Amino acid sequence: DKVLVSGANGFIGIWVVRRLLEKGYRVRGTVRSTDKGKFLEESFKSYGDKFEVFVVEDIVKAGAFDEAAKGVDAIVHTATPVHTHAISPDGKNNPIKQYLMSKSYTPEMIIPAVNGTIGILKSALKNRNSLKRVVVTSSCGAVLEVGVDKVFSDADWNDQAVREIKEQGENAPASSKYRASKTLAEKAAWEFYEKNKAEIKWDLAVIIPPHVFGPVIHDVTDVDSLNISMRTWYDVVLVDGKSKDFLTTQGSAYIDVRDAAEAHILAMEKEAAGGERIITPAGMFVWQDWLDTARTLVPSPIPSHATLPAGYPGVPSKLTFGYDASKAIRILGLKYRSKEQLTRDTLADFEKLGW
Ligand code: NDP
Repeated sequence: DKVLVSGANGFIGIWVVRRLLEKGYRVRGTVRSTDKGKFLEESFKSYGDKFEVFVVEDIVKAGAFDEAAKGVDAIVHTATPVHTHAISPDGKNNPIKQYLMSKSYTPEMIIPAVNGTIGILKSALKNRNSLKRVVVTSSCGAVLEVGVDKVFSDADWNDQAVREIKEQGENAPASSKYRASKTLAEKAAWEFYEKNKAEIKWDLAVIIPPHVFGPVIHDVTDVDSLNISMRTWYDVVLVDGKSKDFLTTQGSAYIDVRDAAEAHILAMEKEAAGGERIITPAGMFVWQDWLDTARTLVPSPIPSHATLPAGYPGVPSKLTFGYDASKAIRILGLKYRSKEQLTRDTLADFEKLGW
């Protein structure tokens, strides 16, 4: 079977490609330029013609995915604008602050998210022969409303972020713009699917990852080229100086990137995943947990860092929200890597990269 993966060069996308190839699928991965495809071709050259790169320059253009979607049996759509590079104008690296303060132009986030998603579904509509399932990557950002204390489930939508960008426009925080883009894109996907359900042979499944961390196998040259979730994790675990309030009161749910990739593939394979939104939380964390975990690993997976930041160990912390994790286990049978495993493998990976 052949699977189309959009955003194949991203942090999550490349793991989806790798797991699909390991499981024996043929994969067509889309990237935005020939150049971005080179690293993928090199990474997966041992798979010969089972892997091909397909350039889709602009996912917003009408018919952008028409050719790419021809002849595939399934589609996994991960591509979307995510805040990536995080150097402050003053040259100091503060990705969290930078992320929250940046005035990214709202349409730049929302149009590719929404129109890219509808676009790939429109192209899917034209594939009337082989296609069986489309899996779209959403985000807990499309589910969780900030400041609401409850256990969020697939019945929840983050309409708060959408309201914020409607009310505040360009002045809305970048994080709200990203979350709104994910809410609007996922809603658009379901609307499109419901409208066309009668005439299509494929169905839709949506994977809703929380924070994704783990070993990095995509094309990163240095710490500054990491995607936002991994850059934040790196900064927390290896760079001293985060505030007590941030480390001990902020957090969310996490999933290892390898499990996130597996979740997409299981959502593609399992009949029962059709028509479902599936949240995939491995567990909850406050940021301090990652420092504590990193410091207790013996032997240290990152011996080049003789000491690791301690943060504020022993400060009791408790998040006042959570996620219903039952569906991913019931429908996908998903098994999760622990914080220890994620931390060990990720630090070993950083050690190899010389970071
Ligand atoms: P990356 O930034 O590593 O990957 C994003 C991918 O989308 C890249 O392939 C990127 O291509 C592509 N992309 C970005 N903007 C555009 C655009 N305007 N047009 C076409 N393609 C574009 O991030 P992740 O791997 O983390 O994100 C993958 C998916 O997972 C996204 O849908 C994201 O919302 C979701 N997600 C991620 C979480 C996380 O913690 N990392 C948590 C929850 C959901 P290029 O390299 O050319 O920019």
